[in-house]
Formats: sequence, C-alpha cells, structure tokens
Amino acid sequence: MREKVTVCEVGPRDGLQMAKSRMQTEIKSAWIAAMAGAGLPEIEVGSFVSPKVIPQMADTDIVVRAAVKLQGVIIVALAPNLRGAQNAYEAGAHRVSVPVSVSEGHSRANLNRSPAEQVAEVARVVEWVRAQPRQMEIEAACSTAFGCSIDGAVPTAAVLTVANGLAAAGVDMVTLADTVGYAHPAQIRDVVRAVQAEIGSKLDGLHLHDTMGLGIANALAGLEVGVRNFDAALAGLGGCPFAPGASGNIVTEDLVFMLESMGFDTGIDLDKLLACRRYLAEGLPNEGLHGGLAQAGIPKTFRVAA
Ligand code: ZN
Repeated sequence: MREKVTVCEVGPRDGLQMAKSRMQTEIKSAWIAAMAGAGLPEIEVGSFVSPKVIPQMADTDIVVRAAVKLQGVIIVALAPNLRGAQNAYEAGAHRVSVPVSVSEGHSRANLNRSPAEQVAEVARVVEWVRAQPRQMEIEAACSTAFGCSIDGAVPTAAVLTVANGLAAAGVDMVTLADTVGYAHPAQIRDVVRAVQAEIGSKLDGLHLHDTMGLGIANALAGLEVGVRNFDAALAGLGGCPFAPGASGNIVTEDLVFMLESMGFDTGIDLDKLLACRRYLAEGLPNEGLHGGLAQAGIPKTFRVAA
C-alpha cells in the first residue's frame, strides 16, 4: 500500500479571484466536473463573498449546488464570516474554509477585523454549524502564516496564538497558508513543527504560492515534516497582486507528478488532469497558464509505483 497524500484543487476559488476576466459559469462547472473525473479528492469551488468585492465569485451558489452532485469528491467553499458559512451550508458544501489572517495588516485590509476578532468569528461559525442537522466540516486557513506584504515578517508566536485559538474554537482542521509566497523550505519546516507541537494533527495542510519559484520546494519541506494535504491550482492559475507575472498557487500537475514519482498515492490520473487545462484555455483566454509538466509532457521515465 502506498501512502496517501491529498491534493485539494483551489483553482476555481484562489485562481479565479485573481483572473482578469470572468469565467462563464457553465465552463467553470464543466472544469470542476472534469477535475473530479481526473481523481481530485477535494476541490475548493468558490467563495461566499460579496460579488461587489470579487465579481468572479458571484456564481458560487450555483457552482456549489452543481458540484456537490459529483461523486467521490469533497466540495469546499470559502466563507469569510458566519453569513458566508450559512450560505455555504445552504448550498450543500461539504466543507467550509474560513480565512484567518495571522498578520494584523492583512487581517484589517482583507477582513476589516483583527486576527483575534476573526478567531471569534470562527467560533461563531463552529457554534452555528454544530447546531445544524447536517454536519459540514470546518477548516480554518491561517493566511500570511509565513510573511505578509503589509506587515513583513510574521512571528511564529503569532501563528501559534491564532492556531491555538482556532483549535480551542473547535474547528475540524487548520491549514497554514503562504498567502503571498514569501516562505522558504527551512521556514516551512520550523513553523509546521511548531504548530504541530501545539495542536497536533489538527494541523492538516499547507496552502502554498509560487511567487518566488519555491512553491514545490516548500511542499517537499512540508511533506518531510508530515504534512499530507496540499492545496494547488491547475496551471498555477492566479498570481499574486504583489508579484506581477508570478504564478499563483503551486501547480497541481507538477505537484502530483512529484508526489506520484516519489511513490505517494494521490489517486489522480495525470493524463486526465492535464486535459483539464483546456477549460482554462477556453474559459480564460487571456490568462497565463503555468506548469513544467504541461510544457514538457509526461516523461517516458514516469510510472506510477505499484
Ligand atoms: Zn492563496
């Protein structure tokens, strides 16, 4: 038996919210269905935020309602507050992901709240969800856990304060996000270990951006200290508002290639995954698509371990 690693595709949420144009709802839903068909076990399909703030997410309710009918895939929706989480619940999302910025500056700019106030909002989400007849998983995503474009360096102590607050609030899982892509591998190891020492297996995953070209190296560093769940975006879609031209999240295809080559089981079919890029070419014709595997093709040396 090969050891499993879970890849969560976040392109339809994190990738699209940075896109210059708006992807048609039908293409978005077809793309999500194709990725589920390629074996992606988890897909973050949208964000319940005001369409005035992020117009690309205006169809999230429709997209979630369609996606939850797909078989064998966990459908995740982002929600910045209780109201968004309630919308995610009503739409049938399997998991809600609530962002909590570790740095004060990013928290104020993004959520108009301090980190402590947002942890309190997460506690309200947990309380509300637990009182509902259907259970929905609650993930808290610690944004700017490895550095912030506004505040600069983020002390590990601040990450631990937020992570402990979220664990105490009763979330099902905590992820650490390198929102702006400033992390390096040694930092990933140190911060992950420090958080593991505080909240144990509640630390579930890493959300990495490839701003500096270190995304895959950072994923490997996380893998080495026991992380088995990674967010990634097809074609590295997205970008970073603070790094023009940079790719967005780590590239799903390249991450899966690394994991499968190393002997981990992702359950993902690489050929089918690469074929999903056609929905991006069709639905976002002006967007730059990234990824080494797509450029080079699956090499003859590649074979999935038995
Ligand atoms: Zn992100």
